[in-house]
Amino acid sequence: MNTTASPKTALPVPSSDHLEERSRRARTEPMSVLALGDGLYEVESASDHTYLVDLESGRCTCPDHVFREARCKHIRRVAIEITHGRTPPPGEIAVACHDCGDAVFVDEDASEPFYCEAHVLRAGDTVRDRETDDRLTVVDVSDLRADAVTIGGSNTTVADYATNERYDDGVPVVGAVYPHATVAKNGVVPGSLKVYVFPRTRLEKTA
Ligand SMILES: [Zn+2]
Ligand SMILES: [Zn+2]
Repeated sequence: MNTTASPKTALPVPSSDHLEERSRRARTEPMSVLALGDGLYEVESASDHTYLVDLESGRCTCPDHVFREARCKHIRRVAIEITHGRTPPPGEIAVACHDCGDAVFVDEDASEPFYCEAHVLRAGDTVRDRETDDRLTVVDVSDLRADAVTIGGSNTTVADYATNERYDDGVPVVGAVYPHATVAKNGVVPGSLKVYVFPRTRLEKTA
């Protein structure tokens, strides 16, 4: 009895060529990526189509993923951009620094104002009071909001204080001292070390 062999033919190569092509296109095609939070990214492709990528579940709304279940160039592009620090990882979003506008990555639940590394305030930093141009030294950066902190012994909140009207009520407060304490015969005058409380956005970090 004769058995029949299948026709002599080459099998299709598992799509390694396609994989490499997707990888190449993920890098070389002009695309923009926007982190939306919740691990979702909006990718605008070279052809001006907009697709939604869910990075953690590895899904994309493009035809290549929907119909071929491919790890498409959009998913790859998001992953590459995160590796290169161009796009925030899941859980973070990109926002603008309040003072210079540079992009910073922050927790997606964080609230304004946001600051880049050059403009974030820490105890010991020198700041400029935008109202008076005075220089002060930061002693404390609080999480408390300007509309929740009253000024020593009064019912007036930091937000309601007359010279703070231009600043947002919801920003944190910063405690600062004037750097030149008054020294009398018996030592430093306590009043000259008084800590003044400012809305965060009223103070600007100096170089
Ligand atoms: Zn895609
Ligand atoms: Zn900045």
